[in-house]
Amino acid sequence: MKGNNGTLWLPHVHTRFSDRYVSPTLEKVIDMCLRYQQNNSDKNLMLCITDSNHAEYIPYLLDNKNKLQNKYGWKIDDLDNIAFVIEDDCNKMYLLNGIEGHTKKGHLLVEGFDINNRKNIESVFHNKTLNFEDQIKRIKESDGDNLIILPHPFNVNVGGAIKNKNIEKIVLDFYNKGYIDAVEEFNAINQPFFKNSNEQTKYFCTKYGVRGIYSSDSHHSSQIFLAYTLLKNIDFSNRGKLLSSIRDSLRNYDYQNEGDGASKFNFIYTMLLRRVLSPCDIITLVGLGIKATYNTIKNE
Ligand SMILES: [Zn+2]
Repeated sequence: MKGNNGTLWLPHVHTRFSDRYVSPTLEKVIDMCLRYQQNNSDKNLMLCITDSNHAEYIPYLLDNKNKLQNKYGWKIDDLDNIAFVIEDDCNKMYLLNGIEGHTKKGHLLVEGFDINNRKNIESVFHNKTLNFEDQIKRIKESDGDNLIILPHPFNVNVGGAIKNKNIEKIVLDFYNKGYIDAVEEFNAINQPFFKNSNEQTKYFCTKYGVRGIYSSDSHHSSQIFLAYTLLKNIDFSNRGKLLSSIRDSLRNYDYQNEGDGASKFNFIYTMLLRRVLSPCDIITLVGLGIKATYNTIKNE
């Protein structure tokens, strides 16, 4: 039966709007999710695209709705301004609004925010005068019911927010007040070389009863489905019900974490790809070199 076995939530997925050459395009991610649904329609699929410091995929999707429908046959509908419902002939998925913002103390995932609040949230991340606590408060209060999740909280190499006991206290305080909804207990691309940080998060979650979720943090199409959280009883009928049912599912431990880490090979391979220059970069560099040489000769 369609959607009867819960909702597979991919809470942390990057697209080419994050890094230009390696992460899959938005179209590719959506296509992979719809194909995944072909064999897994007993579950709903809720994708959250979390590009770095902006959610440019949202205006892109809105501007290209007709083009995408003509090209791929996708019907794209809005779910009360906090998500999109995307359907092809046989499959359906939900795309919950998302962003991964960088603060001075670490990264934050914000999910299910109102489309009209997107620029406001982006500007909070770009505002370097605000401290971590004020950024969290401003974002949460800006639409009241969005979800805030701390990704890879103990991995300082990739923007973990919990760097010392002091922050641990702030995070707990914010969690208890409902400003933070969960932390990322398992991050699939941290696992091959930063396993320790996943273990620290697991310990933190167990010790304080903080809800922990699994994510892939994928930057490559091979990583999207590595790890995810399976939420029970999610109600997609409207904005309020969707966000409160996600929150209730987390609060009541009405969810299951599934998945595994990336392999060492996959991690190194995709990391190297991210560092390789594209042909455009090479052309630009050659162009700059020629210009500089020309200017030197002219001025001699
Ligand atoms: Zn990320």
